[in-house]
This record gives sequence, structure tokens and C-alpha cells, in this order.
Amino acid sequence: LVSRQFKREQTIVNVSGVQIGGPEVIVIAGPCSVESRDQILTTARAVRAAGAHMLRGGAYKPRTSPYDFQGLGVEALRLLKEARDETGLPVVTEVMSTEDVDLVAEYADMLQVGARNMQNFPLLRRLATTPRPILLKRGPSATIKEWLLAAEYLLSGGNENVVLCERGIKTFETELRNTLDLAAVALVKELSHLPVIVDPSHGTGRRSLIAAAAKAGIAIGADGLIVEVHPCPERALSDGPQSLDLTEFAQMMRGLSAPLRQL
Ligand code: PEP
Ligand code: MN
Repeated sequence: LVSRQFKREQTIVNVSGVQIGGPEVIVIAGPCSVESRDQILTTARAVRAAGAHMLRGGAYKPRTSPYDFQGLGVEALRLLKEARDETGLPVVTEVMSTEDVDLVAEYADMLQVGARNMQNFPLLRRLATTPRPILLKRGPSATIKEWLLAAEYLLSGGNENVVLCERGIKTFETELRNTLDLAAVALVKELSHLPVIVDPSHGTGRRSLIAAAAKAGIAIGADGLIVEVHPCPERALSDGPQSLDLTEFAQMMRGLSAPLRQL
């Protein structure tokens, strides 16, 4: 169902009015984790002013260590909704477990399957039955075929509103947090009718590389970007080193608009 052989026309996923996969490249921005009311509202206002189309923010965080910040849970969902209602930006946030699907779907416009859960088959089957669109991140060690088959779980279970996200994979390289697989974006656009976006934050792990990786993602055919932005990355509770501050995000957006017009 995900293949171009099955369906030739590009799928456009509508997330509360934002069209992903259409002629316009869309940008999703916001903090890795929702940390406080002030943090999420400040970020939401700034990314909106800079031209972002959607807001991101983690409520349930899949952290490598159980001692790291795990997210504010339902409190974060409430804050995301408040930011959404004020700015009008649709919200995407991660859901980690089948038990949380209904709750997260009540607050968020789009549900994210994190890289670590790409092959959580019970979660995929459950998400196939929600009315919400899904952002399906590529697993850190997933092949392109495994990634597309994970999407196939969603489509075959009845949810056709799926956006794929390349966020970097594990390779022998250790200088970068992940290796952003840009060729995979171009190939998946050939193989599948589903929209594909790029995450230059997790894809590089370094703030200084985000703007360049974002441009490269668009140049190779991505339908959009998801970027981590924090009012004070040095104090972020998760992923500060790969988050832009508000000024840097506005700069990145200005840098994108020139190549975007040419494309
Ligand atoms: C995130 O978006 O903050 C996140 C945890 O991403 P990933 O699942 O790609 O690591
Ligand atoms: Mn993150």
C-alpha cells in the first residue's frame, strides 16, 4: 500500500490544515521536551513569527537512561494545547505506548512514533486505528525496507495519513550522533507516495550543522523539516546541543527561503 506501484500520485497529509507533501515545504519546530509553560509558549510564538507551520514538543520522552528527564506527561500535553490554541500551530508529539494513544490523540494534531519504537508492532497496529495523522521516524538501525514495512502496518490497519521522517541512522561514524541518510530521502520519494521530512537536529546532533543539513534535505526532495528549537539550549533538559535558539532558528528560516523559491 505504501508503494508508488500501488498508488502513483503523491499523498498529501493534512494536519489540521497544514498540507504535508504538497508544493510547499513545511517546517515543524519546537523543543525536544516541553519543560515549562513559559518555555513552550515563548518557543511557539517565536517559531511562528519566524515562519514555522507546526509546533513540536515532547511530553513522553524515550530517554536512553532511566535517570534522565522523562517528560512532563499529561501536563506537557496541556501546555502544548495551550500553545496551539494561542498560536494556531498544529502540534505533533510522541506517543510511546498503546495505553497513551487516546490521551495523546485528544491533545495533539499529529502523533509521532519515535525512532526507537519504529518496529513496536502493537503500537503501530493501535495507531492504525486513530483518526490522527502519524509521523513515523526511521529507526536508528532500520533499513529502508523495514521503515516502509513499518508504515505498511499503519496503512494496512486503516490509517493512510502517514508522514515518514529520516532522522539519521547508526553507522561506524562516531563524531556525529547519527548519520543523516539523505540519499534514503530521495529513494523513498521514488519508492513511496508518502511524504518524507528530514530531522537535521537528531540527524547531526550538532547545532552548527542544522542549517546546512536542513538545506540539503530540501534540495534532495524532502517535503519538510522537523527542527529542535529552545529559548536557551544550554539549559535544555534534553537535546540542548542539537537545538537552535530562537534567533538561530529565524536565521535558518531566512536561509531556507532563497533556495526554496528557486526549487
Ligand atoms: C525526538 O524527536 O525528540 C526524538 C526522541 O526523536 P527520535 O525518536 O528520532 O530519536
Ligand atoms: Mn530530541
